[in-house]
Amino acid sequence: MNHITRILIFIFLFLNFQNPVSALSDSLISREALMHTVEILTSAEMAGRLPGHAGFTRAALYMTEQFQNLGLIPAGDDGYYQHMKVEYNAIPEPCGFELHLRSQIIMPRHGIDYTFRGFTGSGDLFAPVVFAGFGISMPEYGYDDFAGLDLKGKIVMVFKNNPDWKLPETSWPGALPREKANAAREHGAGAIIFVSAPFERIGIPEVIGSVLHGPGDHPADFLQLMISRELADKILAESGNDLETLYNELKNKQQPISFETGTKAHISVRTEYNPEASTFNIIGMIEGNDAKRKNEFIVIGAHLDHVGSQCGTIYPGANDNASGSAAVLEIARAFSLSEIKPSRSLIFVLFTSEEQGLLGAGHFVENFPEPHKNIIAMLNFDCIAHGDSIQIGNGKSSPELWELARKSDNEKLVVDRSWGGGGADLTPFFNAGIPGLYMVSTNSYTYLHTPEDKPETLNPGLFEAIVRLGFRITRKLAE
Ligand SMILES: [Zn+2]
Repeated sequence: MNHITRILIFIFLFLNFQNPVSALSDSLISREALMHTVEILTSAEMAGRLPGHAGFTRAALYMTEQFQNLGLIPAGDDGYYQHMKVEYNAIPEPCGFELHLRSQIIMPRHGIDYTFRGFTGSGDLFAPVVFAGFGISMPEYGYDDFAGLDLKGKIVMVFKNNPDWKLPETSWPGALPREKANAAREHGAGAIIFVSAPFERIGIPEVIGSVLHGPGDHPADFLQLMISRELADKILAESGNDLETLYNELKNKQQPISFETGTKAHISVRTEYNPEASTFNIIGMIEGNDAKRKNEFIVIGAHLDHVGSQCGTIYPGANDNASGSAAVLEIARAFSLSEIKPSRSLIFVLFTSEEQGLLGAGHFVENFPEPHKNIIAMLNFDCIAHGDSIQIGNGKSSPELWELARKSDNEKLVVDRSWGGGGADLTPFFNAGIPGLYMVSTNSYTYLHTPEDKPETLNPGLFEAIVRLGFRITRKLAE
């Protein structure tokens, strides 16, 4: 071996040993392990992980057991659990929905042509369908979609969104389904059907399972559905109308257009409602090994919940958000197995009730036992495994973290745009002044909140890359 060869070998070894732990730690996160967790969380017995349902509890118990096996320190208020109460509504089999047109009966397909809203009431109703614009009743401001209609016991069909023009003296109500439903009910209706406006929800599913309903009363006998635009057009065709023309006319006139459609519908469903069901976040910790810095925290979180099942159809939520939950577990595992011991403390949290309006994350932030300024950063993983590249949100609100993320992006998979103001479970952290990043894949929402959000629609290579990136960011923050 000559002198030069010896120097080259030395340089080679030096370069390779520069970062041995990094290489080792990255490889601790594998697509196989991530997909394994997703398969378990999306299995039939987890029933779509609706908080308050046994399926959520099963998924939670499984994840808690994993936290325990990794030796995470329990950091809830009852072991790993941080308890809370949420509104809950199960929609078991059987359900029914038929349209009676003048010349034929249509049987819409559940999950494709229609779904029940997560907070529908129970009942069996056969009644005429009345179209009532945006379902807004504000006669004191000169706008009332229900004016002059006889709605007694009838089914009202409305746009789920609000008008895109403004009222001169006030703003529109919140556009939350519960508010529109209760307004229709106060006018005597027995059911409401929501449909998206023609230019809403482009590139994402129109008919979704959803428990995001807004605050207010729950009338146990009021039926609530969401249907596709195609089906709405069939309802409207009986009166020679169609959705797009109506929408444009409403927009041009800025005045209500409401009428009997001539179609009847038969709706039947029986639900199990509980205004105060028990659920919980799951919290585990790896304590920092630096006497001072261990009182500074990095929170790595994802929501474990999804929208449950309906009429016997499960919404598995593989991308949303079994993927993020698996990420939290694998990052915890990498830290537990590797020789790197962080100097700051790492908190791993699986939130409940994101789908109902960020309830678990809000509860976590509100009840955090240390000052909020001690949370150095929050990393939120939500819908990270379907699509083709990575987006990191909240970069505009946390530019330093965004820089760090860009520098950690070995594979150059991060899309060059971001946003501010939090987003999903990061929002309560953002509102409390905590810096954070929101990891999500681009073009993530092809099967969002549909029965098709299954493990086989995920992109395991991208999934692995985004979790490894999350791990590298966490490691830098922890040091
Ligand atoms: Zn979701």
